[in-house]
Amino acid sequence: MKLQDKVCLVTGAASGIGKEIALTFAREGGRVVIADLNRAAAQAAASEITGSGGAAMAVTMDVTDEAQVNAAVAEVVAAWGGVDVLVSNAGIQIVHPIEDFPFADWKKMLAIHLDGAFLTTRACVPLMQKSGRGGTVIYMGSVHSKEASVLKSAYVTAKHGLIGLCKTVAKEGGKHGIRANVICPGFVRTTLVDKQIPEQAQALGISEDDVVQKVMLKDAVDGEFTTVQDVAQAALLFAGFESNALTGQSLVVSHGWFMQ
Ligand code: NAD
Repeated sequence: MKLQDKVCLVTGAASGIGKEIALTFAREGGRVVIADLNRAAAQAAASEITGSGGAAMAVTMDVTDEAQVNAAVAEVVAAWGGVDVLVSNAGIQIVHPIEDFPFADWKKMLAIHLDGAFLTTRACVPLMQKSGRGGTVIYMGSVHSKEASVLKSAYVTAKHGLIGLCKTVAKEGGKHGIRANVICPGFVRTTLVDKQIPEQAQALGISEDDVVQKVMLKDAVDGEFTTVQDVAQAALLFAGFESNALTGQSLVVSHGWFMQ
């Protein structure tokens, strides 16, 4: 058990990548907090974990809302005493060509990806300092933390920003044993990607099949989507790693789409 009794707060854990990370961490003995906007789905994910013998609780959290983030973290402290691992994963996608990008959508994207990462980090880091055990902060970046694609100016900007936040948290956290990392997945077949396929087909004037084969999977060495399990295993590697050797690093998990 790599995470025995560690309290692991995962944002956006009611579905997709976040949910798989929560299930994986619970199987490794972690006490998992499912933090999500969608209360009913968060509760269902927590029940799935407790139903199979794991430890989980659900909290309602809009990661862009300072008061809600702080209140939800306080709820976790009251129940379980602190937070050892934060996975800042909640995210959405909005695509437009830059010249048509509504300012409101731009701000919404930066708020969820960057304000959310900042607010949850700021709420959890003092708990990791206080515990004396240190902790791990994992940001869900993307290949788009390193590479750009058309139509995704806000997403690419936000995901690049997470690399800077991670490196700073790693430097500030060093003396407290607080580590920070970014996971950079390729395309994963979740609701976030399923929604993009018809949108991109329309915006690029190509078929949905061509969006999948010629845009999303064009450079994967095996022509395959990255899976939620691929990403959860990378999260487990960082969360369970027992020294500071990997702190500040980002790891691309993309079936070879992007290589460094
Ligand atoms: P998803 O849509 O399946 O899940 C996202 C979850 O975040 C949902 O449960 C949703 O309710 C929650 N959420 C949305 N806004 C929120 C908010 N303001 N506060 C709290 N929760 C909120 O998406 P996913 O594909 O699992 O994406 C998870 C993360 O992985 C995102 O940061 C995304 O950018 C990143 N990512 C996804 C892919 C991919 O191909 N799917 C690739 C690289 C990175």
